[in-house]
Amino acid sequence: MISETVGYIRFSSDRQAEGDSVERQRTLILDVAKGRGLEVDRWVLDEGVSAFHGDNLTGALGGIIAEANSGKFKGTLLVENLDRISRQHPEKALQVLLNLMQKGVTVITCADNREHSSGGDPMNLFNSLITFIRGNEESVMKSRRANSVWASNRDKLKDGLKIKNAYIPRWLEWSADDLIIIEEKAELIRRMFKLCTEGLGYSAISKILNNESIPTLSGLGLHRASGVAHFIKNRSVIGEYQPHTNVDGKRQPVGEAIADYYPSISEDLFYRAAGAVAIRNNYGSGGYRRGSFTNLFSGLIRCACGEMMLLKNKGKAGIDQHYLLCPSKDYGSCEQKSIRYDVIEKQIIVALSILPDVNKTRDNGAAIDSLNGRLITLSKARDELVEVLVQVPSKAVTERLVAVEKDINKLSEDIEALKREGSSEHGFKIIDVDDRPKFNQQLKSCLSMELIDNVIAYRNLDGNVLLEQHFGVKYRASKVLNMEGEVLAETKTDIPLRAKKQNIRVKQ
Ligand SMILES: [Zn+2]
Repeated sequence: MISETVGYIRFSSDRQAEGDSVERQRTLILDVAKGRGLEVDRWVLDEGVSAFHGDNLTGALGGIIAEANSGKFKGTLLVENLDRISRQHPEKALQVLLNLMQKGVTVITCADNREHSSGGDPMNLFNSLITFIRGNEESVMKSRRANSVWASNRDKLKDGLKIKNAYIPRWLEWSADDLIIIEEKAELIRRMFKLCTEGLGYSAISKILNNESIPTLSGLGLHRASGVAHFIKNRSVIGEYQPHTNVDGKRQPVGEAIADYYPSISEDLFYRAAGAVAIRNNYGSGGYRRGSFTNLFSGLIRCACGEMMLLKNKGKAGIDQHYLLCPSKDYGSCEQKSIRYDVIEKQIIVALSILPDVNKTRDNGAAIDSLNGRLITLSKARDELVEVLVQVPSKAVTERLVAVEKDINKLSEDIEALKREGSSEHGFKIIDVDDRPKFNQQLKSCLSMELIDNVIAYRNLDGNVLLEQHFGVKYRASKVLNMEGEVLAETKTDIPLRAKKQNIRVKQ
């Protein structure tokens, strides 16, 4: 059996706290080995692994222990100190050390240059036990401290004070002891939410923002889908603060989130967006939310490339000139031409008016979506509270849970009521475009539209084409055909080629 000398190094994932830990451990081990006339044959490394939960026992150290158990490794194991081997409960830690010793391994702790081997100095064993007790206590304290710092912060928060920690959301800044909104940045986030409520996905939203050369919140790089998603889901937007702490090198949330901690950017938009995302996740298409509507067909006309056609004002100096355009166009991945909105709007309405299904109502959709969004977030909050309660029984948390439960019940009742109300409502008239939000909502509840070059295909929710509208040059006239190819209607715009003043009210 060859006697081997192994150097074992472990550092936790909290690299900053550990500094250049690897180099320090390595140098020390080499020094001690040299002093003892040994040469390190092999290095074994546990990187980003905690010894508090014994994770290293299933890591590289676990491998060495297995080799010792099978008799493959007999020799010398050099470590900085016993902490590197274990920070678990002393009983467990000592067991690990004793096991290695009994399998014929000599463990050398380099910090105190002690040798631990079977039949060796019993005082060393005694010292090891003390070291294990200290190491474990330290880890227990560390994790307890993180919780008690949080507890004391929590008391401050109850008095309405803010903790001036390093992290605050990017759209906020300190003004004396208060946090205030950086309006320009908040506006960008609201824009993301608005686009989301219009049924756009994260990727489409990032494209639009990049397309308009709007800088990111950090001022660096381009908008990305993941970044947009981060904001859309970020509850700091509605003022929630979730404290985090570093426990054993891992960033973890501590305690429950605190409502009304930050100034809220827009609670309404947040919940509507949550509803929109939930709907898109469920049905794979966007939904309309009240108040965020920009055009009659907002979130309705999909380009053949898959993107939702957007309204954009290309007008100059006070004269609006709205176009429907595909967000992919500027990336060269789509050839769809932009369409003047005023030219096409009435013509589409003509086609819609001969669609029989449009008059069937499935209403209150927007209100229900919004409430559903709230319900989802509240349910999540409830689950988190239950999680906290399981770990730390607390009266305050229990009270909060009861309050959340109550809100959930109330919301569920409201949703049911809205559904009942919606199903009894009939007779919404397609020609009534004055109530534009309602009109848009109505359309979304029964059809989708796809633009392929100069043809709009009108489909029901099952995806079956009901009508096709074939446009001529510059979309100035069209023929509406059924699936048998019969022409049901012809349309023509009366809007002059060069628009003087926009006569269609379109909210931006
Ligand atoms: Zn396209």
